[in-house]
Amino acid sequence: MAGILAAIKLKEAGLADFTVYEKADRLGGTWRENTYPGLSCDVPSHLYCYSFALNPGWSHLYSPGPEIEAYFERVAHDHGVVPHVRFGDEVTACVFVDGRWQLTTAGGVHDEVDVVIAATGVLHHPKYPDIRGLDSFGGAVFHSARWDHGVALDGARVGIIGTGSTAMQIVSAIVDRTGKLSLFQRTAQWVMPAVNPAYTPDEQTAFRQDPLLMEGLRDSVAQLFDHFSDGIVDSRSPEMAMIEKFCLDNLESSVSDPDLRERLRPDYRAACKRLIVSTDFYEAIQKPGAELVTDAIDGVEPGGVRTADGRLHELDVLVLATGFKVDAFVRPITVVGRGSVDLGQVWVDRPEAYLSISVPDFPNFFMLNGPNGPVGNFSLVEVAELQIGYIMQLIDRLRSGGGRQISATADAMARFESARVEAAKNTIWATGCRSWYLDDRGIPAAWPWPFRQFRSEMAEPAWEAYELRD
Ligand SMILES: Cc1cc2nc3c(=O)[nH]c(=O)nc-3n(C[C@H](O)[C@H](O)[C@H](O)COP(=O)(O)OP(=O)(O)OC[C@H]3O[C@@H](n4cnc5c(N)ncnc54)[C@H](O)[C@@H]3O)c2cc1C
Repeated sequence: MAGILAAIKLKEAGLADFTVYEKADRLGGTWRENTYPGLSCDVPSHLYCYSFALNPGWSHLYSPGPEIEAYFERVAHDHGVVPHVRFGDEVTACVFVDGRWQLTTAGGVHDEVDVVIAATGVLHHPKYPDIRGLDSFGGAVFHSARWDHGVALDGARVGIIGTGSTAMQIVSAIVDRTGKLSLFQRTAQWVMPAVNPAYTPDEQTAFRQDPLLMEGLRDSVAQLFDHFSDGIVDSRSPEMAMIEKFCLDNLESSVSDPDLRERLRPDYRAACKRLIVSTDFYEAIQKPGAELVTDAIDGVEPGGVRTADGRLHELDVLVLATGFKVDAFVRPITVVGRGSVDLGQVWVDRPEAYLSISVPDFPNFFMLNGPNGPVGNFSLVEVAELQIGYIMQLIDRLRSGGGRQISATADAMARFESARVEAAKNTIWATGCRSWYLDDRGIPAAWPWPFRQFRSEMAEPAWEAYELRD
């Protein structure tokens, strides 16, 4: 998504001499790698797409994963950027030497470039759980992002470890096919109720004939998300109280068995962890073939999962819906900046970047969806679009001859980071839950201000925050 976007914007700006490095053999990123049953976006499709390539053909309010993958591929083709992609080779190092970046790939290619845009993804490197005996499992075991479609699910006893958005989508999608489905829950989740109507052919025709209809829809969804962001960045706000009420009412009205309801009731505030948006998770987990397992996992054995109460949950298939290493960003690429500063060392405690985009002493190295950016149920497409608009202005500054190296100053970085950490303490993410939003200190690794403030920051760089050198 972000790499294609960067390519399109560079091309539009008349910068034809660029290469997109993609280690896989086709486009799609997240939407290529995740193929699990039930995969869908939980941001409405008319917002989860590029503003310059609205799509009248979205099938649903929240469209399924394969449709999203096809959309990104189509846009890349339509904008003529696919010939710029070098597939099947992984960038392993970017080293700044004599004012230019030297790129090395696993395939032995050495390229020299003026500017690097890192669009390496956020939820990209699967995280595997550390569970005793996992390797000894006798059935099929795989991570949700490496789904094994050769494994039969029909009538099988399937266990799912994890209760994030992915796990919930899988439960709803397969519960009617499996013989028995066991969901191993460490932490209960708040679930935001949703509906997912299909767009009718008439609606799709209307969108095609009058793109303003799509723009209007997109604007109204964006406004809703702005209210949502006002809520999550201020845990005492009325918007937050409303989000909590929706989730609480959903739990109370959807789960009839009082014991199950209590086991599904989180002991922290809604949206502290990434909210689950689901039309049917509660319905699915109440089906006769489904079981919510809340006893802690003691270990995995050839026959299944043993929980702390001594019970063996016999399984044929074990799905690890255990998320991603969210603090990797450009790593494991070796990135060495000006004065031989190693990004791995700069980030040894945790990743930081000025406005998520630039790191001091790493000139002309810009990130899309980099560290501490907006997270929390937003459209990362919208985020990346705002960021690329900003990055193009940094590149323009280089082109206009003001200097050949641009990066955030150390002072701007320090001031930004201390304000960000301070503001993060007021957010809902800091109200006492364990989540992938928190860094090693327990500080939310995210943009802690309203989303409209992100929009205005991205509108134009504050030039005093940047250092230009020849
Ligand atoms: C299951 C799931 C559901 C999601 N749902 C939503 C949602 O509802 N809304 C939302 O906004 N976001 C969602 N996301 C987040 C999603 O990752 C982003 O929205 C978006 O797809 C990120 O795009 P990207 O281009 O930044 O990264 P990616 O899609 O991860 O693409 C990165 C690309 O870089 C390539 N790459 C990485 N390193 C190298 C290297 N060293 N050399 C060469 N190539 C490399 C990868 O192969 C990949 O193709 C979801 C993520 C997952 C996993």
